[in-house]
Amino acid sequence: MVNPSSVYCGRLAPSPTGLLHLGHARTFWTAMERAWAARSTSSGQAGGTLRLRNDDLDTARCHPDFVTAMIEDLRWFGLQWDEPVVTQSQRIPLYRAALARLHDAGHIFPCSCSRRDVQQAATAPHESTDEPLYPGTCRPENLPPASRLQPPASPAQGDGLNWRFRVPDGETLSFTDGHFGEQHAVAGRDFGDFLIWRKDDAPSYQLACVVDDAALGITEVVRGADLIKSTFRQLLLFRALESRAPAFYHCPLLTDDKGVRLAKRHDALALRTLREQGKTPEQIRAGWA
Ligand code: GLU
Repeated sequence: MVNPSSVYCGRLAPSPTGLLHLGHARTFWTAMERAWAARSTSSGQAGGTLRLRNDDLDTARCHPDFVTAMIEDLRWFGLQWDEPVVTQSQRIPLYRAALARLHDAGHIFPCSCSRRDVQQAATAPHESTDEPLYPGTCRPENLPPASRLQPPASPAQGDGLNWRFRVPDGETLSFTDGHFGEQHAVAGRDFGDFLIWRKDDAPSYQLACVVDDAALGITEVVRGADLIKSTFRQLLLFRALESRAPAFYHCPLLTDDKGVRLAKRHDALALRTLREQGKTPEQIRAGWA
């Protein structure tokens, strides 16, 4: 399934954890326009494609009703994609294979810290759109030998352990964003060891996202600017998995009238609400101009 050439391939990757709002619509519209632009300029080639990826791995928050609503709302808004839809919960063996590769190459370690442990240990306040810096608690070299976790030889199904990626402390990572230009971050300072596999036996967003973007041959990732920090983590994962990283284009985030970033709790700005109020997609898009 790997994209054999550099023919543009983009993706829309909503999570069915709530109703899609205006912010999603604007980002996805940009993604579609960029795929279409590639389509019209790639003379003689198959042209750009756009896939829809259903990011439904968070079983506690994702719901089938939101998947139905998501597809209905995307279609209503005028978004079009190439079938078939990719559903992450159906791709667990692929993620597990990548987990084993990362383990064999020595990139991950087991961790017993809870999210709260990490939050409490964080020395600096973290941006609300990102996770706190991992303090290194369970890195094997930081534990007294007696209390080192005795992990199984390799991550095993149901081992009840979190597995984290060990970032190369001090390395500066860079990429040129299609919208925001040059971006840099220092591993271990701007972001720390991040989750690869969760103790409830589910892959992390970072792992699943990279495995899918590589497997589907995605050439450009278009998504919200809240994920810029994650892009650095994902660049490390592409490298560790020996896959070519796509280009990245992050879209500015929409805010409400109080300057607060739109989230799924902003029901008033859900596409569904706007539609029920009689707004048309054209009117909504005209508001962005
Ligand atoms: N599903 C993710 C989200 O809704 C987006 C993932 C991505 O575009 O990489 O935040």
